[in-house]
Amino acid sequence: MQKMIDLRSDTVTTPTSEMRLAMAEAEVGDDVYREDPTVIRLEKLAAEILGKEAAIFVPSGTMGNQIAVKLHTQPGQEVICEERGHIFNYEMAATAAISGCLVRPVPSRRGFPSWEQIEAHLSPPFYYRAQTGLVTLENTHNFAGGTVLGPEETSVLAEKCHQRGLPLHLDGARIFNAAVRIGCPVSELVRHCDSVMITLSKGLCAPVGSMLAGTTEFIERAWRVRKMLGGGMRQVGVLAAAGLIALEKMTLRLAEDHVNARRLAESLNELNGFEVDLEAVQTNIVIVQLRGADANEIMQTLRGRSVLAGYAGPRLLRLVTHKDVSALDIENVISVFADLAAA
Ligand SMILES: *Cc1c(COP(=O)(O)O)cnc(C)c1O
Repeated sequence: MQKMIDLRSDTVTTPTSEMRLAMAEAEVGDDVYREDPTVIRLEKLAAEILGKEAAIFVPSGTMGNQIAVKLHTQPGQEVICEERGHIFNYEMAATAAISGCLVRPVPSRRGFPSWEQIEAHLSPPFYYRAQTGLVTLENTHNFAGGTVLGPEETSVLAEKCHQRGLPLHLDGARIFNAAVRIGCPVSELVRHCDSVMITLSKGLCAPVGSMLAGTTEFIERAWRVRKMLGGGMRQVGVLAAAGLIALEKMTLRLAEDHVNARRLAESLNELNGFEVDLEAVQTNIVIVQLRGADANEIMQTLRGRSVLAGYAGPRLLRLVTHKDVSALDIENVISVFADLAAA
């Protein structure tokens, strides 16, 4: 059988053989007692790379984001999130279920609302209106097409939030894609954010895991919420070992994924029936607009030709490049799409 070219997400990446080896040999202890040396190393390294005081290992990005929401807010408050954002759309309404907060979605052109757009959605200071408790940003922005927000723009938004007494949480599931694209350290991209979540299990290829970082006091409180949510793990150094390799060795190769995404986007945009906003293709995500065709039908046809695409809307596909998709695979995908365009 022909190999499937899986462009549904960078979460499908499998751990490298170096990760497998490190996992087998990892030194472990009971992490609920804070005695797993490999987890401790991972948390130290993540905090250092992010330029934060401390970090905590969590099973998923969703848990990392939702711990942050819970710690920054009170029940009955509102959380600002861009309208296509992960926290709003893909986390099972957890802000409501876990923190008792409503998401206040904010529109934007490419995933990043201006301060004016955010400000227009902050609650006025009347006691009878639910108060804004937290502002969130997502970088890169997933469903805006992997778009990148630079360090200056992030800092300006953080400063504006702080002037209003609001904390800023960054969903940095793909922050390393942003850093590689701009060529700046991740610590600069998150400098003025009060908390940040990063994912190890996407383009960085670890099998499981995300990190939540912030002040020492914030992360101490995060330990309690993580335990409450059932995220206290035991000899989890076997996973942290892969996470260490993700952070140490897998970030720079993301540039290859960006080259592949660019090539794919430009080629598809030339074809009849497919359209890509090329300016939005800044990292490893390509959102394809279908003219007339139905996304589910196209996905079925692609599957028959050994290409897996992700659903992003009735007329939208999402294609994500990653370690397990080569430049040659991309050429094959382009020729499959060319056949569809001709048919
Ligand atoms: C993947 C992702 C997450 C976290 O997802 P999990 O599947 O819970 O690890 C959070 N935010 C964004 C933008 C993502 O793409």
